[in-house]
Amino acid sequence: MTTEELRESLLAAPKNGYTKLTAEQKAEMESYCKWYATFIDAAKTEREATSWAAAEAEKHGFKPLVWGMDVKPGDKVYLNNRGKSIILAVIGSESLAEGANICAAHVDSPRMDLKPNPLYEDSEIAYFKTHYYGGVKKYQWTAVPLALHGVVYRKDGTVVDVVIGEDDSDPILMISDLLPHLAADQMQKTAGQVIAGEQLNVILGTQPLEGEGSDLVKLHIMKLLNEKFGIIEADFLSAELCIVPAGKCREVGLDRSLLAAYGHDDRVCAFAEMAPLFDLGTPTHTAVCVLADKEEIGSVGISGMQSQAFEYFMEILCRAQGVSVAHCFANSFCLSADVSNAFDPNWPETCDRRNNAKVNYGVSIMKYTGSRGKGGASDASAEAMGHVRTTLDNAGVLWQIATLGKVDQGGGGTVAAYMANRNIVTVDAGVPVLSMHAPIELVSKLDCYMTMLACKAIYLA
Ligand code: MN
Ligand code: MN
Repeated sequence: MTTEELRESLLAAPKNGYTKLTAEQKAEMESYCKWYATFIDAAKTEREATSWAAAEAEKHGFKPLVWGMDVKPGDKVYLNNRGKSIILAVIGSESLAEGANICAAHVDSPRMDLKPNPLYEDSEIAYFKTHYYGGVKKYQWTAVPLALHGVVYRKDGTVVDVVIGEDDSDPILMISDLLPHLAADQMQKTAGQVIAGEQLNVILGTQPLEGEGSDLVKLHIMKLLNEKFGIIEADFLSAELCIVPAGKCREVGLDRSLLAAYGHDDRVCAFAEMAPLFDLGTPTHTAVCVLADKEEIGSVGISGMQSQAFEYFMEILCRAQGVSVAHCFANSFCLSADVSNAFDPNWPETCDRRNNAKVNYGVSIMKYTGSRGKGGASDASAEAMGHVRTTLDNAGVLWQIATLGKVDQGGGGTVAAYMANRNIVTVDAGVPVLSMHAPIELVSKLDCYMTMLACKAIYLA
């Protein structure tokens, strides 16, 4: 063999995905990404993502799964977990005793949540007090257009949906920052302290009502909220209201190869899981799509991936076939579909570039996440990685290997560990992201499309 032949047969040679993408795939990628943009614009909270998924599933023939329900191969079912997470399945031709092919993503994203008693007035400006949710750089949330999304449970038991700041005719909300002219002290602080948590106060208005007494601006805002949503101040106690970046998904770059949006982490993977499930046909193994909540704060709570809600869903399916859930799990596979960091040449020192995902190299596969000696990772086995590698190669999916930053630089987790705890073989995979957890994140269309193809290949494995 010549050196060149040896090089070709022995050494790995990752290539930019655009060198391999066919014209037909490129067209499919564009239409897939347009569809994704409609989802990401409509789904800025876990609730909105869940509602969108349930409605779209219904359109594609999915039926709500109820206790005691009989299911047969080809049936399409879903369980809306209290409006905040959703699990969908297409029943396979094989028994659940042979295991399910699961893709699990999360639909919550970092943001500012309103405090239970949020509304106040200071210096004749009305504000909402917030508590940030998930890992954010707090300074990124000042002086950017913000919107209010959520629900309010009123005293009479009715629930009202709230969205302000998304329609072009809506006002937006904003958190102010300090002018540089007076920021001598602020600029001496570390980035973590430049904006304190208690300074993330959202401006609501400045115009006082006519009349006597204090807090006339606050009263004016409460009057406007009452006119629009029929709520009173005490109703904030039974509300979930979130401050998120206002605005829609946009193409980025003169070549339009990237997408900018709030909450790609992890709705870009949630959508990649959902989209192929809608028209999957009857798979061999039952295909299960999990869209979980609360990943950004540890997968806790009744709607998080640690919740028994997943067991409840699987038990309904397994009972219909006389199969034990534990036995089904033991034979199942899970792709924990969550975003990874794309290599950013502005911060090369934070990554090991030989082991980091790159934009446009396809869906990133991660053997482990975690931090400081793989702490908190599920650390997939060679066999599990081999299964994914073979499955994706056979399906012609462009993929790359990834790790989250260089050793001891930091790290992070996903739902993978909680699926592996259930005795389900689990591997992390997802879309590489630039500016992850910033108010606006960037992903490449090619990687979004390949992640969808990867989920489809896993369902059909
Ligand atoms: Mn994530
Ligand atoms: Mn995240």
